[in-house]
Amino acid sequence: AADPRLQGISDAIRVVPHFPKPGIMFNDITPLLLRPGVFKDAVDMFVERYRGMGIAVVAGIEARGFIFGPAIALAIGAKFVPLRKPKKLPGEVVSESYVLEYGTDCLEMHVGAIEPEERVVVVDDLVATGGTLSAAIRLIERAGADVIECACLIGLPKFKDFYKLNGKPVYILVESR
Ligand code: AMP
Repeated sequence: AADPRLQGISDAIRVVPHFPKPGIMFNDITPLLLRPGVFKDAVDMFVERYRGMGIAVVAGIEARGFIFGPAIALAIGAKFVPLRKPKKLPGEVVSESYVLEYGTDCLEMHVGAIEPEERVVVVDDLVATGGTLSAAIRLIERAGADVIECACLIGLPKFKDFYKLNGKPVYILVESR
């Protein structure tokens, strides 16, 4: 049977048609953040999945991966590493560019933030084409670390074929309505 928390999580995500441009069904997680019990359910479900798995690093993707990633990292005793948009990190970085559902972008990570062999979970709010998560996986693998799984609250069903990225599993809580 499905976890009873999933219905509340799904109900707390607002779908906004034609944002930020025509044809995009934008999945807005901010209503979920206004319901502390539902926000906690979402974090708890990831924590229950990753606790005790020897995860050393939670890597969060800017910007909405920064909302969920640190809460998960603290609860499982892992470090949090931000994967940022270009020119935000002051130290030496590695970069990977990618194609987004609406545009192209690039992710950067501080050199030395992740050690070789460390076990990593990548967190974001939503997977669409998987381009963003693929760039994150490449960054982490360039550091010699091991991506155990990618974790997103939402998956877009039309991109289901992409739910395995570079051989890495993607775990999603709910599918977009
Ligand atoms: P993708 O790289 O195509 O998997 O896109 C995922 C990234 O873009 C995530 O960081 C999402 O926050 C954002 N994104 C893409 N499509 C949407 C959407 N329909 N609603 C909300 N966020 C989206």
